[in-house]
Amino acid sequence: MANPRDPLADLRRIAFLLERAHEATYRVRAFRGAAAKLAKLPDGELEARVKAGTLRELPGVGDVTARCVAESLAGEEPVYLRRLEATAGQDLDEATAALLNALKGDCHAHSDWSDGGSPIDEMAMAAAQIGHEYLVLTDHSPRLTVARGLSAERLEEQLAVVAEINAGFEGIGMSFRILTGIEVDILADGSLDQTDELLGRLDVVVGSVHSNLKDEPDVMTRRMVTALANPHLDILGHCTGRLITGGRGTRPESRFDAEQVFRAAVEHDKAIEINSRPERLDPPKRLLRVALEAGCRFSIDTDAHAPGQLDWLSNGCSRAVACGVPADRIVNTMGGKDLVAWAASHGQ
Ligand SMILES: [Zn+2]
Ligand SMILES: [Zn+2]
Repeated sequence: MANPRDPLADLRRIAFLLERAHEATYRVRAFRGAAAKLAKLPDGELEARVKAGTLRELPGVGDVTARCVAESLAGEEPVYLRRLEATAGQDLDEATAALLNALKGDCHAHSDWSDGGSPIDEMAMAAAQIGHEYLVLTDHSPRLTVARGLSAERLEEQLAVVAEINAGFEGIGMSFRILTGIEVDILADGSLDQTDELLGRLDVVVGSVHSNLKDEPDVMTRRMVTALANPHLDILGHCTGRLITGGRGTRPESRFDAEQVFRAAVEHDKAIEINSRPERLDPPKRLLRVALEAGCRFSIDTDAHAPGQLDWLSNGCSRAVACGVPADRIVNTMGGKDLVAWAASHGQ
């Protein structure tokens, strides 16, 4: 008989591929939820139940899941997984593939501490599997209550959890690290929605506008320029706030003086995010070219709210390639140490 595979890893891989392909959340949850439940079974019970055919009696385990587990334990790649893998290939052109390959990590991702769907360690494991050196964990800040933004106390707590998970990676000889961070709201006056003390302790700070998106252009410009001048902010997230498709409907771009904003980014050596979420694809290419001409640095990020979405970086890469953004202008082509040093240089 073939060696058994890890059925839980197979279930998580299925969830990852479904997410990446934008499948309905409930289908993804079925697999991820089953994996989490089965992980809690006492040693040997999974095997015993598959043998006895009683796996389905467990709540949250459906026919497809049970079949996948059985195939996996028998040492075969589950048929369901094999089909997904076969259709999961992305046809990237050469330049996009090369840029994607040059990225060492992702600077914008959420966990279930704010409005993401998965725990920190699952996001981290998925990022490591993609081949990243690091993932910057950027959950929301307090004022974004709809997204369960983290209070100063919860962020403190999160920092301790991240340190523990990283110590675990180190313990098993993995070089992958979670970098600490935040997606901090840029408030109406351009200030940032977290204490200076905490912002100063984070590896990387993404700042985004999530409120008053219809501010008058001069107000919005001042707001963004003020935020870019703040030594704590490293990356300006999804700068226009537009939504071009998807369940939340569409939303027009915020209006601001792009040249002035991008000039401020250059002056303070901050990065403009190229957001890879399909409903954002922000900034639009028109502005991406303006930012490039201004001399900006960029960060190609997924803004992932689930593990499978960590694979959306190719969206941002293909846009960067289309606009002629060279790899050395993209901060996440740097290794983790250099990235953190670049971010830290803003406070000096
Ligand atoms: Zn955001
Ligand atoms: Zn975000």
